[in-house]
Amino acid sequence: MRNLLERLRRWIRRDGQRRSPLRPEFIGKVARQIEATHEIEYSCDDVHRLLDQFAEAVLRGENAANLWPLVQQHLDMCPDCREEFEALMRVLRASGAAAS
Ligand SMILES: [Zn+2]
Repeated sequence: MRNLLERLRRWIRRDGQRRSPLRPEFIGKVARQIEATHEIEYSCDDVHRLLDQFAEAVLRGENAANLWPLVQQHLDMCPDCREEFEALMRVLRASGAAAS
């Protein structure tokens, strides 16, 4: 399970690197993210460290956004992490992790 998640993450990151970081829409995206910046916030690395727990809590029906508000805040404004979270949720659901 852990290996599968790591493979998935590497695959997502590789996909992300193919995008040129200097396209105008990227700069617009960054500008919007800066506008949405809060004083206390998690980096993508912080979120990656907690994403497994966060996703598993969501699958258990817990209020993950209450447990980790800063993770939720980051997912709301970071499309890359949100994409990774959604991919993780799909894998967890498909593997039946919620049933165990
Ligand atoms: Zn992020």
